Amino acid sequence: GSSPHGTILGHPDSLFVLFFTEMWERFSYYGMRALLVLFLVSTAAKGGWGWSREEATSLYGWYTGLAYATPILGGYLADRFLGTRRAVLIGGFIIAAGHISLFLDTIVSFYAGLSLIIAGTGLLKPNISAIVGQLYNKDNEQGRDGGYTLFYMGVNAGAFFGISLCGYIGEKISWNLGFGLAGVFMILGALQFWFGQKIFGSIGDVPSAESRAAVAASRDDEGPAHVVRDRLVAIGVFSFFTIFFWFAFEQAGGSMTIFAADYTDRTLVGTGGFIFKVINSLMTLIPAAILSWLWIKLAKATGGRIASSNAVLALALLLIWGLSLWMLGREFSLEQSEVPATWFGVLNSFFLVILAPYFTKMWDQWWNPSGPIKFGMGLVLLGLGFAALSYGSAGIAPGAKTAHVSMVFLCIAYLFHTMGELTLSPVGLSYISRLAPARLLGLMFGIWFLNTSIANKLAGATGSYIDHISETYSMSTFFLIFTLIPIGAGLVMMLLNKWMLGKMHGIR
Ligand code: GLN
Repeated sequence: GSSPHGTILGHPDSLFVLFFTEMWERFSYYGMRALLVLFLVSTAAKGGWGWSREEATSLYGWYTGLAYATPILGGYLADRFLGTRRAVLIGGFIIAAGHISLFLDTIVSFYAGLSLIIAGTGLLKPNISAIVGQLYNKDNEQGRDGGYTLFYMGVNAGAFFGISLCGYIGEKISWNLGFGLAGVFMILGALQFWFGQKIFGSIGDVPSAESRAAVAASRDDEGPAHVVRDRLVAIGVFSFFTIFFWFAFEQAGGSMTIFAADYTDRTLVGTGGFIFKVINSLMTLIPAAILSWLWIKLAKATGGRIASSNAVLALALLLIWGLSLWMLGREFSLEQSEVPATWFGVLNSFFLVILAPYFTKMWDQWWNPSGPIKFGMGLVLLGLGFAALSYGSAGIAPGAKTAHVSMVFLCIAYLFHTMGELTLSPVGLSYISRLAPARLLGLMFGIWFLNTSIANKLAGATGSYIDHISETYSMSTFFLIFTLIPIGAGLVMMLLNKWMLGKMHGIR
């Protein structure tokens, strides 16, 4: 096999080097993203630029849209010239430079920073996703879905701490420090990958005739031209269906925050407020503990082999603990009687970190239906999340500006969204890695992410109709639309199961 070394949770230890690198990259991406709009719309007195909400969300839409479009270039460059590993490294340092540029706080450095992050993400994101798949081959093939699911746990651990810590520091201390913090972790992540990369052996080397032959030999035979073509069609269909998923999912981000802010009852007095603080603390400390536990496993499994990488990682985790405890301490000393509306935004990544190991176990050992069925289920689960919101908001009259709906509906919605995401998104990466010919691996991940880019732009465009729809019809109708779209798409995907299996030629 490609990983003659130790295993952790039944997966190659090298998976966890990728896990932590992607974790810091996503920390910086989501942390910065969480600040962007808030920073732009804040008044100059509060250190912002005083933009209108429309201007700010438009830039946000462009930024996230482009960050998911450049992977197509980054994937191509890795396939042809750089190799996946070098692309990840260069991308990581370019992203870090971008965050430092944002930290500098001038107009020019701000746009330069955004551009650098967009370019660096294009190099890093598709290629780190590709390396995960390269750790699985004939010998450990059954672990692939579960491996991607663990990797995806890293994505969301990063999102969780990025949104909480950068968001908190940016909003309560200074925007620049928030942006800068994102940069610090990206530098640590890139260093950790640099020191740790010998663990990958020849995986992700600069492409050469020999390395291509070695990769091809480690996989099942690519097969004749029509098989390759059919599998590319399957990649296209899977990627296309993700548009429905991310469209509704990203739409959720916007409309659910509005719902949280205007329509839910978040007032907690006395013990209620105290219990919230305790829950909030557990929510921060449990993911931090899981990460530390994984790091100990990694340090043990790799022994002295990647000691410097582990040292950098330990430093980063110590920083996370320090910052988290500082943040929680500060919050505890406040007389706080309301759950902030933005708090719901981290529920998704929190649930994901907690549930991912169970999904990994499920795919590894208990039950693993075919790809189109999993995709369909993911879409249906997303729709069910919106159904909870539609039901919960049924009592709100059209055009009402406030209401007092229980927060429980939002929590249920995020739980279902997360289960849907786990059933579709990491598994989707896994299918791309199996269906793509080795020489086009990076490019195919680029195509996969390009659909997120399209979905994000679509969600941005329809987002401006929320006010209109909820006034003319109702919040409940709005959520009902987003119940029906993904469920419809999910059922179609399931109906296509047989046809898709034909196109996939033996890959289930
Ligand atoms: N949360 C995922 C990530 O950032 C979303 C990826 C996607 O394809 N939209 O990796």
